[in-house]
Amino acid sequence: MKEEVIAAIKEFIASSQGDMARYPTGPYFDTPIVGFAPLDDQLFGEYKRIIGDFHLTPRELLAGELGLSPAGGTVICWVLPITEGVRKSNRTQGEFPSRGWSLTRTHGEALNGELRRHLVAWLKGRGQAALAPQLSPLWRELEETPVGRASTWSERHAAYAAGLGTFSLSDALITAGGIAHRCGSVITDLVLEPSQRGEGGYADNCLYYREGSCGACIGRCPVGAISFAGHDKSRCCAYVYGNVPAAVGEKYGVPYTGCGLCQTRVPCEGAIPRGKRR
Ligand code: SF4
Ligand code: SF4
Repeated sequence: MKEEVIAAIKEFIASSQGDMARYPTGPYFDTPIVGFAPLDDQLFGEYKRIIGDFHLTPRELLAGELGLSPAGGTVICWVLPITEGVRKSNRTQGEFPSRGWSLTRTHGEALNGELRRHLVAWLKGRGQAALAPQLSPLWRELEETPVGRASTWSERHAAYAAGLGTFSLSDALITAGGIAHRCGSVITDLVLEPSQRGEGGYADNCLYYREGSCGACIGRCPVGAISFAGHDKSRCCAYVYGNVPAAVGEKYGVPYTGCGLCQTRVPCEGAIPRGKRR
């Protein structure tokens, strides 16, 4: 069943990116990478301490949205790596993202939403319970929390639990397909074998955390939101959701532009960087 789930996700993405009106710069995503976390993975409990009590566990979502408390289940997670063509277009940008990057943020994320709906329907069609946290009535975005702007479900943290990557100096997730991606998840009562997490810790794929080198993303940020002390989420969000759409949203014809300068022209852009110790 695990292989069928992976195939369903890959087929959906492969067959959905041919419409030139929506993909004028070509496909936004390469082949998805899929991982699985157990419904009761202890990490989901720990996220209440690390992120905040408002962050929901998979069980809270299943109980709250579907009224279910199954014996077991799985959080199915995926990463949609952004194609090299789109990444390349953003490498030369210094202040605002490229058109391709912004189209990926708006239309690629819309496709990611369709994938969430598709997988929920696919699982339900096989007699399983399923929901997409990002589309749940219980999903909320909170502007002010002790960790800054945050939501009741973090796709990145779910992907980390499913062994898909580790965190970066810039607060993103460095996966086998790099740091430039969109990610998503669906919770189901279908029990599947969990993926293994790496043994190197929560930030092992980032060169700075792994061996104290790099820091290339620091120089890429036009507003100084990244330093060796970490990522200034408030400063980043003000730029990504304020200045950037105001400057290029109308020109590109999209409501969400993203930024992603710190995710392109950096060693972790499209793969886990090798560094000195790998
Ligand atoms: S650019 Fe370097 S320091 Fe920044 S997230 Fe990537 S690997 Fe880490
Ligand atoms: S997304 Fe843009 S504003 Fe935010 S940290 Fe990266 S480069 Fe800076």
